[in-house]
Parts: sequence; structure tokens; C-alpha cells
Amino acid sequence: MNDESIYAEASKDRAAFWAKLAREGIDWFKEWDENYQWEPPYYRWFINGKLNMSYNALDRHIKTWRRNKAAIIWVPEPPNEKERVLTYFDLYREVNKFANVLKSLGVRKGDRVGIYLPMIPEVQIAMLACARIGAIHNVVFSAFSSKSLQERMLDAEAKVLVTVDGYYRRGKQINLKAEAEKGVEGTPIQKVVVVKRMGMDVNMVEGRDYWWHELMKDAGNYCEPEVMDSEDILYLLYTSGTTGKPKGVEHHTGGYAVQAYWTTKWDFDIHDDDVFWCTADIGWVTGHTYGCYGPLLCGATMVEYEGAPNYPQLDRWWSIVEKYGVTVFYTAPTAIRMFMQWGEEWPNKHNLNSLRILGTVGEPINEEAWLWYFNKIGGGRCPVIDTWWQTETGGTLINSLPGIGPFIPTVAGRSFPGTSHDILDESGNSMGIGEGGYLVQKNPFAPGMLRNVWRNPARYKEYFSVYAEKFYFTSDGARRWDELGNIRLTGRVDDVMKVAGHRLSTAELENAINSYEAVVESAVVAAPHDIKGEVPIAFVTLKPDVAPSDQLKKELIKHVDATIGPTARPDKIVFSSELPKTRSGKIMRRILKSLIRNQSVGDTTTLMNPESVEYLKKEIGYKE
Ligand code: ATP
Ligand code: MG
Repeated sequence: MNDESIYAEASKDRAAFWAKLAREGIDWFKEWDENYQWEPPYYRWFINGKLNMSYNALDRHIKTWRRNKAAIIWVPEPPNEKERVLTYFDLYREVNKFANVLKSLGVRKGDRVGIYLPMIPEVQIAMLACARIGAIHNVVFSAFSSKSLQERMLDAEAKVLVTVDGYYRRGKQINLKAEAEKGVEGTPIQKVVVVKRMGMDVNMVEGRDYWWHELMKDAGNYCEPEVMDSEDILYLLYTSGTTGKPKGVEHHTGGYAVQAYWTTKWDFDIHDDDVFWCTADIGWVTGHTYGCYGPLLCGATMVEYEGAPNYPQLDRWWSIVEKYGVTVFYTAPTAIRMFMQWGEEWPNKHNLNSLRILGTVGEPINEEAWLWYFNKIGGGRCPVIDTWWQTETGGTLINSLPGIGPFIPTVAGRSFPGTSHDILDESGNSMGIGEGGYLVQKNPFAPGMLRNVWRNPARYKEYFSVYAEKFYFTSDGARRWDELGNIRLTGRVDDVMKVAGHRLSTAELENAINSYEAVVESAVVAAPHDIKGEVPIAFVTLKPDVAPSDQLKKELIKHVDATIGPTARPDKIVFSSELPKTRSGKIMRRILKSLIRNQSVGDTTTLMNPESVEYLKKEIGYKE
């Protein structure tokens, strides 16, 4: 494993460092001519290098002892249904066959394939089969509506859709085919492949819809992997849509493979005997990089779970950790806070001693949740790796590494070796230690970063134009923690408040509020104020057994005064049993901001719990 010296080595020549990693971590059909090129605002990695992603995830392992190693342990939601284990060779065979199926349906290199599947192994098989023949996949989260599917398929101009008859969610049977049916209407999709997961009665359209298992029956066992250029597109994926309309981010093969491999290996200290479980749905970038490509590139064993964390009981996740001996566990702060709310008796029912490393991603993690995760799930033994990254970055970028650290709650850590970030003010001056500003990434940009926004280069250019094509602008706020380069994320730039001339970050204020005994989670947004410019308004979810009261509001304000000081004092506190969240579990402050301004809430297609918005409208006297 690494030590401190890796950072110094990497910073000598970052492009050369990545080239070394690319050589060590990935098998290339042909080595590249040049490591890196930057022609603002476009950059390229491993120029003219040739490779295939599925070859790297599968073929190279089946030539070794890993051939019979478990690649995917799939756990169905119904507790009495048996798990499915796919070895590397099983996965290799299925991917080759499905690659041939796609070809027989007329899919060629560069064509787009929509994937609208729940958490079943066919989702990884379909993704890898696309990668094998050079088709570009666009996975759409299975809990999204037909409208979201349709929009994405139209934008991507997909030819083929892969979907399922249905799946289980919290004990209910969800008929996804019916949703897919509406979603393909009016799109260029000509063929629909349907996985039979449930054996439900579904409508199959003659000449358009085919059963997966029937097509697979006659498919050939081998499909030559397409020789892909390092800069050929691997996939398109839309961002979570927390701040507005989702962006169709483009990831290219070579650089993404290198970053996916090394971040998985180093962030989670992956070894051959590990059992890795990333709980993110495949519909998010976390699912792509750490629930498919990263672990498979590393030859790791991973767990994939179909269903809900609270089915049949609130300890389902922990029973899975215990049963399969999960060693590395990666989830989101929103899930951790949910488990805190349910109570530690649920994890306490299980022996979680197999766990070695814990990870988190998606939002800033507040101190109380970090400590709970560390103590109650990790038994005080496992480092918590708080990974900051984005759909755009393709892989993690800012986090402490196991064995190196430091592990400080609310401080994500340093730039991944070979990358570098800065924290700037509006004019581009670097902020000092302890100061906050805008987080940017420096050139050379990490190899797995987006290369474009699909059919929207103007939107792509915005990431670089904010600082005159010198930096990649992350849209996140951050504070420089120490001279070592550790960074605390403080929330989205749009959410930073200026109260009577003081900059206040949402994450830091929420962290203070969440540390109050009665609170589960909170979201702070800025409201305009005549004298102070802006004031914070806090939306707070209380523990289920705590009754909201004016007295509690007063106590919370006192608590904020004592923790950060009176400038941060919320002007108003609104209690709500739920906060509006995206389907990936992120709090949508944008909606709260519109509500308190009596503005329209805008695009809510990515919202998980629209009823919370209706409740809040009444609670605050919203007038449209
Ligand atoms: P959209 O860009 O469509 O508004 P989104 O930004 O939520 O949606 P993602 O790419 O899924 O889409 O999320 C990336 C964002 O999530 C980051 O920019 C950051 O705001 C937040 N984030 C992710 N991980 C962390 C973390 N460990 N700490 C703090 N914030 C994080
Ligand atoms: Mg974003």
C-alpha cells in the first residue's frame, strides 16, 4: 500500500504520473503517442492509445486464476429467493453473448443503447457488452418515469433499449416494461430487449420487443472486442439534477478506465480477498464507476443488491454485510442519517466485524453522521473515506487514502495523487488556510473527467470559462483546511450566503444544527433580507420521537450561537418530517430557496418525494 511519498512523487509531473498508472493498471492493444494535450477548453489523454474496456474488465482476468473468482454476488430483494453468483468466467460468457445479440440487432460502434434496468446482473452485462462492441450506453435510473426515459433517449438518439419485465421494490412488484413502453414512444428506438426477472405478464410488440433469454439462446460465445481509441466515447450519463436541468455528461474510454481502476484500488485499498459493496444505484455515476467498472477492472468481488434497505426489516443491509462478509462498504450520507434515525439496535443485531473500510459520497457528511458511521457501523476500526467527486469527474478526486489519512470528520482530504485543486475568490486569488472560496481543478485535468456535454458544447465550455480557461470550475464551495492540502467541502456555490458581509456555508451551518441531539438532518438556504443582505433559513427534520415546538426552535438557535456564533443564527426554523430530495438522496436546496422566495420550483422530474414540497408550501404559506 501507499504511503505519504505517493503525493510528492505524483506532483513532480502529473501527466507522467498518470501515464505510469495507465501502463501499470490497464492493458492496451497499442500504447499512446503522447500522454496529454490541452487545447482549451478541450483536453485529451493517452493520444492514439488503443484499448477495450470489457477486455480489461473481463478477458484479462479469465486468463488468470481469477477465472473462477466471484465477480458479482447478486442478492435479490425477497429474502427467501436465492442469491446468484457470477464468476469472472460467467460474466465473460454472458457479456460476449449479449455483445453478439446487440450486433445482431444492428448496433454498431458509436451507436447509443439505452439501459433502463434495476439492480440485476443484466445491467452490468449490458453495459460491458456495449463497451465490448464500442456502442455508447446511456443508463437511466429505473425509478425514473417514462418521461425522463423518453427525454434521455431522444437526446441520445438511442437505437436499442434494454429493460426488464419488472422487479421488486420494498416487497412490491414494479412493472417496468409498462413504463419503458411509454418511454420509447416518439424516440428513434427500434428494438427493445426485455429481461425476464419476474415472469410478469407484459405486452410484447411484435418486431420490436424481444426476450433477452431467447436472443441469448442462440448467441455465439465469443465476440471480438472492438479496438477503441482512448478518446472514443464509453458512455453518456446525466447528472443528478440537484441544481437544475440534468446535463448529459460524456466519458471517454482510456482516461476513464485509468481513473476508475486506480481510484477503486487506492481509495478502498482493494485486495483479492475483499468483498466490495457500493450501495449506489447503477443509474448514478457512483454505480457506474464503483458498482461496475472500477471493481471489475480490479478483479474484485462485489455485492449487488436488488432492493430497499428496509425490506423486510430495517436491518437488511447489515444482514447482507454479515452474510457475505463485506469488507469494503460505500454509501451516501443520506443513507447513514436514515439508519441513525432508525436506531443502532438494527446494525447491533449483526456481526459487522468483516468490515475494514467505509466510504461515503454524494453530499457533505456532517460530523454526527460521520461519527455514527465510524463507531456504530465500523466499530471504531475502519477509516471513513469521504470521497468528493461529481458525475463530471468520472471518479473520486478529493479524499483521504486508507493507511495515509488524515481522517477528520467533515474534511474530505487531499487531491487524489496526480490531481490538484485550488480554492479561489471571485477574482481568481488563492485563498489562505482556514479561508473559504470556490473549488477549482488545475490543469492537467484528471483523466476520467468529462470530455463534453452531449450535444451541448456550450454547456461544457461553461465549466472552463468561469476562470478564463485556466481551471475547471466545480460549482462547489470549499475551505482550505491545512498546509498539507486537506480540503473541507462547504456546499454548492449557489448556496453560499453572505450575511452582513460574512460568508456562511450551508454545510457548516447544517453541521452545527445536525449536532443538536433532537435533529436528524437539516437544509439551510439563504433568504433575501433588507438590512443584512441575506439571512439563513433552516429546514429541520427532527428525530421521530421529538415533538416540534417553539421552545425547541429557541434552543436550536442557542445551540447555533454557541457552536458557530450569532451571525450564523437562522432567521427562521421550519420543521418538516422530510426534506425534498433527488432520487439519489441529495437534499434539493434549490427547491427550498424557490419556496421561500415564492418562486416557481422549476424542474422536479428528479425529485424523490414531491409530497414534501406540498407540505412545505402549506407550512410556510407559499403563494404561487
Ligand atoms: P446537478 O449537477 O445536475 O445539479 P449534482 O451536482 O447533484 O446534480 P452529481 O454529479 O451526482 O450531480 O453530484 C455531484 C455533487 O455532489 C458535487 O458537485 C457536490 O456538490 C456533491 N458531493 C458529492 N460528494 C461529496 C462529498 N463527499 N462532500 C461534499 N459534497 C459532495
Ligand atoms: Mg453538479
